[in-house]
Amino acid sequence: MTGGQTLKEKLFRLISNDIGIDLGTANTLVYLRGKGVVIDEPSVVAVNNKTDRVIAVGSAAKEMLGRTPPHISAERPVVDGVISNFEVAAEMIAYLINKAEKQHPKPLGPRVIVGVPSGITNVETRAVRDAATDAGAREVYIVEEPMAGAIGDRLPVNDAKGTVIIDIGGGTSDIAVISLGGIVNSKNLKVAGDTFNQDIMAYMRDTYKILIGEKTAEKLKLEIGRAIEGPEVKEGKMRGRDLISGLPKEITVTDKDIRAAMAQSIETLVDAVKEVIETTPPEIISDTIESGIFLSGGGALIEGLDEYLAEIVKVPVHVVADPLTAVARGTGVILEHLDEYKDVLVSYDNELPIAS
Ligand code: ADP
Ligand code: MG
Repeated sequence: MTGGQTLKEKLFRLISNDIGIDLGTANTLVYLRGKGVVIDEPSVVAVNNKTDRVIAVGSAAKEMLGRTPPHISAERPVVDGVISNFEVAAEMIAYLINKAEKQHPKPLGPRVIVGVPSGITNVETRAVRDAATDAGAREVYIVEEPMAGAIGDRLPVNDAKGTVIIDIGGGTSDIAVISLGGIVNSKNLKVAGDTFNQDIMAYMRDTYKILIGEKTAEKLKLEIGRAIEGPEVKEGKMRGRDLISGLPKEITVTDKDIRAAMAQSIETLVDAVKEVIETTPPEIISDTIESGIFLSGGGALIEGLDEYLAEIVKVPVHVVADPLTAVARGTGVILEHLDEYKDVLVSYDNELPIAS
């Protein structure tokens, strides 16, 4: 029996692809079995509002921003941790499946697994499944992103012991406690990478009376952002518009400025982590004293955030390997070991009519 399945499995691997999709608020990644992460694009879709047709996806859509006639708008499929626009999300999923299939054509349709924001509704789940099926998928599986991120880092999600993972993305942060293949406690908050960018913009306006764009703010965050004081001062030049003269102006700011700008949002995030810990059964949470808390997503790369959190929560904090690709890699691991990870998948009822 098992041998037969293995043979069937082997055959399917020869004639069809395994594709994993991480539909993030900021970035969308695609994992292709045997190749690794083959697509890494901003989660943006350009739509022609006159015809309602999608005309570009990913970086091509992002490049169009600000250079397009007014009837073309850029849309994000996932906003604030929910699929904001089903059509746009479906077009994005179809585009990604087709693009990955083209790189490595196989005769049979692919098996597809899609990572979705945690707490997704049944209706959303089925919309994702339908989009993948319409794009030619032979089988579709759905997994919650923090779960996929933990699996991407090979954390023991199936064990009875608790695993805490905090995924700090662009639009949302997800704090999840995982045990026995399921998410036993979680919190999703709208404080994440985009919030830090907004914080930096507001701080520069209030403190230096300079207006900067979001791209400049993000660049400062990446280059000199730090959650705690480091051994030396980091400096960065920033260019914006002087609020008083209305003219362009360049000044130098330091990591201290970025820290002050982000402080309140980091506090909000830390408070949410505390809240999740406090509301998790003690026998599950006590495991984390040994194993620690894991950080994933782009926000995990903020220098010193791990140290800061460890100091406050009083448990070790680790950044997963390559936090920006952890979810995509996790979808790949699940497809490679479907038997082992079948319990972590989001189940949905195929037969039920979609509730209105
Ligand atoms: P999502 O899963 O929501 O698409 P990602 O995990 O791709 O989000 O993370 C995107 C966010 O991570 C962005 O806000 C980006 O600015 C931030 N980010 C990426 N690299 C870094 C870095 N080195 N330091 C701080 N923030 C970063
Ligand atoms: Mg993500």
